[in-house]
Amino acid sequence: MTTAPVSTRGGAWLLEDSPAEGIFTPEQLSEEHRLMARTTDEFVDGEVLPNLDRLEQKDWDVARQLIRRCGELGLLGVDAPEAYGGLALDKASSVVVAEHMSRSASFAVTFGGQTNLSILPITMFGTDDQKQRYLPRLIAGDIVAAYALSETGSGSDALAARTRATRQPDGSWVLSGEKMWISNGGFADLFIVFANVDGDKFTAFLVERSFAGLSSGKEEHKMGLHGSSTTPIVLQDVQVPADNVLGEIGRGHKVALNTLNFGRFKLGAMCVGGCRTAIAESARYAVQRKQFSQPIASFGAIKHKLGEMVARTYALESLVYRMTGVVEAMLAGRPEEQAAVGGGIVARAFEELAVESSIAKVLGSEILSYVLDENVQIHGGNGYVTDYPAERHYRDARVNRIFEGTNEINRLLIPGMLIRRALKGDLAIIPAARRLQDEVLSPSTASFGQSDEHLGAELQAVTAFKKVALMVLGTALQTYGDKLSEQQEVLSIAADILSEIYATESAVIRARQAHASGHRLAELHAAAASIYTDGAAARVEVAAKSALAAMADGDTRRTLLAALRRLLKVQPVNTVALRRQLADAATGAAGYIFN
Ligand SMILES: Cc1cc2nc3c(=O)[nH]c(=O)nc-3n(C[C@H](O)[C@H](O)[C@H](O)COP(=O)(O)OP(=O)(O)OC[C@H]3O[C@@H](n4cnc5c(N)ncnc54)[C@H](O)[C@@H]3O)c2cc1C
Repeated sequence: MTTAPVSTRGGAWLLEDSPAEGIFTPEQLSEEHRLMARTTDEFVDGEVLPNLDRLEQKDWDVARQLIRRCGELGLLGVDAPEAYGGLALDKASSVVVAEHMSRSASFAVTFGGQTNLSILPITMFGTDDQKQRYLPRLIAGDIVAAYALSETGSGSDALAARTRATRQPDGSWVLSGEKMWISNGGFADLFIVFANVDGDKFTAFLVERSFAGLSSGKEEHKMGLHGSSTTPIVLQDVQVPADNVLGEIGRGHKVALNTLNFGRFKLGAMCVGGCRTAIAESARYAVQRKQFSQPIASFGAIKHKLGEMVARTYALESLVYRMTGVVEAMLAGRPEEQAAVGGGIVARAFEELAVESSIAKVLGSEILSYVLDENVQIHGGNGYVTDYPAERHYRDARVNRIFEGTNEINRLLIPGMLIRRALKGDLAIIPAARRLQDEVLSPSTASFGQSDEHLGAELQAVTAFKKVALMVLGTALQTYGDKLSEQQEVLSIAADILSEIYATESAVIRARQAHASGHRLAELHAAAASIYTDGAAARVEVAAKSALAAMADGDTRRTLLAALRRLLKVQPVNTVALRRQLADAATGAAGYIFN
């Protein structure tokens, strides 16, 4: 197995050998990053959580005061330009803040609405005048903003919005329509509203609450996130000045999509934080709760849960930090371009990494769902009642699979975007799939197993997963041609295989880096990477089998499935012992051990 340096090209990891080193990991966080984490934790513990009941009672004055406190602490403008009051820190700082802010329950959504969905698009697409008018006040927390894209009839199909914008003779605009499910909707001062000009020119506008005709509807009664405002926004002939168009007329999709690309990545980071919190709660509870005269932490069934929760979180965290490093490598030394009007280098970086952002969102929200479900289970009856936070986390997190693009839509995007790049000739998936077809259909294809290299078997598994993905994508292109976009089941399965590749590879490389640097927890890193790889191999096999069975029959099906079996001959690992090791470490440390 050869190894290569880290690439900044989105999706290139599918075709490249695994990088030997150079991926960014949480172990490389600086003292400044850790200080940012502590500042966020102190704010959450000291100011948000004591006010959670008032937030859940929808006391939006509290939400507003907390946003202002975030401004005072510098948490709103972590990666915003200094010229408008931001701190212009790196993306790792904003990831760290997002992870730790996830502990603030519903307030994390209020915070995300202000930072990811408002400050970011204005930074990327605002004119200098718009930035001067709005960013300093948003970054200071003096005003609150919201992002109004969805409507009753257009959620996933956001560009089909019925809200209209009509140009007036003096160049100003009149907006009419109704937006739905808008976070911060009940009290925001500023809205980024998407509307169609002349029926088909999708455009973003900056609309202030003070503009006559804008009003908030009633608060939604939600399953969770009771401390976050979610309302419709009604626009009745709202007069909007000419210079409040955000971006270009007819290019609102650029604003929306670039915001979502970044937002999905940040959501992945928030999910890492949510997993860590739940692991800490489970670990503490398992030590303290006794049944049959023993702490439940001593039972193998509980160790299995804790070990698996840690391993999945480790993989998710590894992929989020790897992405952070790639983004930083793209932005390095180009500070002036980061604030360029029209999206600049930040928008281009996240456009390049749109596949990885969707992976972070889907895998992040699903690993978090898994971890929170096990957190409830470890708490038993106490997991189902409101005395413990486990049940609130479970309800609060469910929406992560729905907003920022549903997981179904994101799954379709993952292979869809890769295939589009392949068809344009930007990514050599098609020739690689053809070469592979000759290779895998030959019965002499070597299987892989244990090697004496550290985590060598896991690295070889990643190589095999990549071949499986190419086999599935190549067969799909051959079978369906330009009708492939109609085959959602196959595309969704391909998305799962691709996600497992990116997560497993990130975890394995991180564990190898820990080993190479003599990290004191290197053995536990290796355990987490091995457990994740073992589970991913099983998931990849099931997924690929059903995709291949759907696409081929007769001899071709038999040949493809035989090739799949040869590719995925993974040597079984004693994951029971490894999970016990991770679980004991988590209960010993009363929390997630790696960060
Ligand atoms: C708490 C909360 C906060 C929110 N905050 C905001 C906000 O701040 N701003 C904002 O603009 N919006 C916000 N939303 C709206 C959210 O983004 C939408 O709910 C989401 O995009 C899904 O749209 P929808 O609800 O119309 O579902 P639909 O699009 O109707 O989807 C229903 C189901 O069909 C599936 N589906 C839809 N189309 C396809 C397809 N082409 N192929 C396969 N499956 C498909 C979906 O995946 C889903 O499972 C929020 C929602 C909630 C619940």
